[in-house]
Amino acid sequence: MNQTFPDALRAGDLEAIRRWPKSDLHNHLVGGGDAAYVSAKTNVRIDALDHKLRSIAEMHAWADRHLGHLNSPGARLLMIEAAFVQAANDGVTRLEGGEDIWAPTFYKCSAAALTESLRGVHLRVAPHVEWIPQLGISRHCLIKDIDRWIRPFLELRFYHTIDLSGDELAQPIENFKPIYRLAKQYGLRLKAHAGEWGDADSVRRAVEELELDEVQHGIAAAESPTVMRFLADNSIRLNVCPTSNLMLSRVESLAVHPIRKFYDAGIKVTINTDDMLMFAQSVPKEFLNIYRAGCLTADELEQVRRNGLSDD
Ligand SMILES: [Zn+2]
Repeated sequence: MNQTFPDALRAGDLEAIRRWPKSDLHNHLVGGGDAAYVSAKTNVRIDALDHKLRSIAEMHAWADRHLGHLNSPGARLLMIEAAFVQAANDGVTRLEGGEDIWAPTFYKCSAAALTESLRGVHLRVAPHVEWIPQLGISRHCLIKDIDRWIRPFLELRFYHTIDLSGDELAQPIENFKPIYRLAKQYGLRLKAHAGEWGDADSVRRAVEELELDEVQHGIAAAESPTVMRFLADNSIRLNVCPTSNLMLSRVESLAVHPIRKFYDAGIKVTINTDDMLMFAQSVPKEFLNIYRAGCLTADELEQVRRNGLSDD
């Protein structure tokens, strides 16, 4: 590769940007692939989000309207396949993501069988992409159900990380403490969505209560220099998703995205896609978006790219 990653950004050369190794550490897999790929295989037309939404309720309504036809085990696996294909095509060499732990009730199979299916998809369509298998938890689920669902997955000793997502206001973060203690005993890396809809303190509380290693989004932390210092001092990585934040009205524009403040505060940040089926911006495009918005320089984005290539 003659052209450096910063050169590729400066030239706006998406193909060259694709060729450099990158990570996607905040990708929900089921909604994490290319819409055209899913459409071509299902004949279901998926139009990307073309206007800003203002709440989780609006987001769920959009997903029901546009992805509701894909509500079968086969279609769900196909959407996951699309995420792996997308990663392979985009030079995403580390893809972190997985199914939600309630999923066996939907697929009507065991945790082991579901894990085998996901492994099969990975090895079939993106064997050269390092997949970091993640267990997803939905914030609205009852703790007793989560406890019951997660144990067979943990027993497989296959998964590397755990993430909590969904409605941040559904129940207090403290409720998830026993689940996170359990996951820690199994050696999982701990992540949770925080500070997307909540405030700066909610980010700090999530890190402290759940002993997180990383935060998905965490953008509200930018409101508080104290919380930003806390994140930097404790080496908590933030896996941010710029276009998701923009389209869900969490930021005014990409030019003023908090990733700038995080970078300046010495917080490790990465750039990710969240739900590509909805936001239609790949990892290479997101890097270019942040560069073109004047939010981070090409050299700073090189550091951000490197931040995602290991967990050190
Ligand atoms: Zn997310």
